Amino acid sequence: MLNEIVLVGGLIFVFTLLYLSFLLPSKMIGNEEDNDKENTSTKTVGRGGGGAGDGVLRELALTNGQINRMNKEEVRQKLEELHLETRGVKEVLKKRLKSYYKKEKLYPDVKLSPTPERYDFLLVIDFEATCMEENPPDFQHEIIEFPILLVNTETLIVEDQFHSYCRPTINPILTPFCTKLTGITQKMVDRAPEFPQVLEDVLDWMSSKGYGMGHSRYAVATDGPWDMCRFLYQQCLHCGIPYPRPFRKWINVKKHFANFYQTKGGTKLQEMLASLGLKFEGKPHSGRDDAVNIARIAGRLIQDGCELRVNECLNNGRVEPVVPPRAKLSVSN
Ligand code: AMP
Ligand code: MG
Repeated sequence: MLNEIVLVGGLIFVFTLLYLSFLLPSKMIGNEEDNDKENTSTKTVGRGGGGAGDGVLRELALTNGQINRMNKEEVRQKLEELHLETRGVKEVLKKRLKSYYKKEKLYPDVKLSPTPERYDFLLVIDFEATCMEENPPDFQHEIIEFPILLVNTETLIVEDQFHSYCRPTINPILTPFCTKLTGITQKMVDRAPEFPQVLEDVLDWMSSKGYGMGHSRYAVATDGPWDMCRFLYQQCLHCGIPYPRPFRKWINVKKHFANFYQTKGGTKLQEMLASLGLKFEGKPHSGRDDAVNIARIAGRLIQDGCELRVNECLNNGRVEPVVPPRAKLSVSN
């Protein structure tokens, strides 16, 4: 009996020791982090590294925890005080405030994202294509509008644009539904060159803007993978021309938006705008207007501190994610 009491007592003692040595410390430092899952597992720090960096990271974690506990109005007021954009849903505002402090604490001397991942220009593209009200699964879409906006990622100004309609050849007559959806009339496409000519014009225009010259960095940006993997890929197959190299990888803005803000509001173009507190400018499903609005979202992401890097590519007609070589900083959000 005495042996059993000693054994049970010993077990209780050992478990208590284990609890104190493993669980308690993590709980003690966990108050703030528990509220903020997106915190400090990082090894690399922004300024200086080492011990000072750890202090900054700890501070950031505390700040993030505080922001998590603020209500929307409190966050909005703080953003106003800091002269930052105040439109958007709660998740967007919180992310904006966290990004502000992250940049202030880690990279106070850098104007925009400090990583070499930043592009000088975005080429924002949104194709419109032939369609039916209920597109059959094997429907052969043909590109009928090819707009590109050249966006300076530092000023966020649209510095130039390319725009052309394209004349379809498989279904040369647009359905009334397609015209209603896109605003593109039969006359517009009848007067337009066929796709191969338009693509040549596009590539000439890109060269004239310095693309491929090596002195600036460009990235194609689209709202999802479909523009490239479906419309452009099918179009090139149909025309018997090789898929153009500049469009083999791109920034999927929708994907960045979802990962960065983590809103509940959805990632359709109009939903992303609504989450940012913005209204659609122009006519939805007009390629140029869609591109303008995608550029506005991309601009907002850049201003809010998102590193808009190439995140998708096409490999033998299949979309694949492009993973960054290594995460430089994991104190995000
Ligand atoms: P978007 O960029 O959303 O305007 O869509 C690009 C293309 O997808 C359009 O030009 C159409 O060919 C097709 N599309 C988009 N929405 C629809 C729809 N509701 N019904 C049929 N086709 C559509
Ligand atoms: Mg569109």
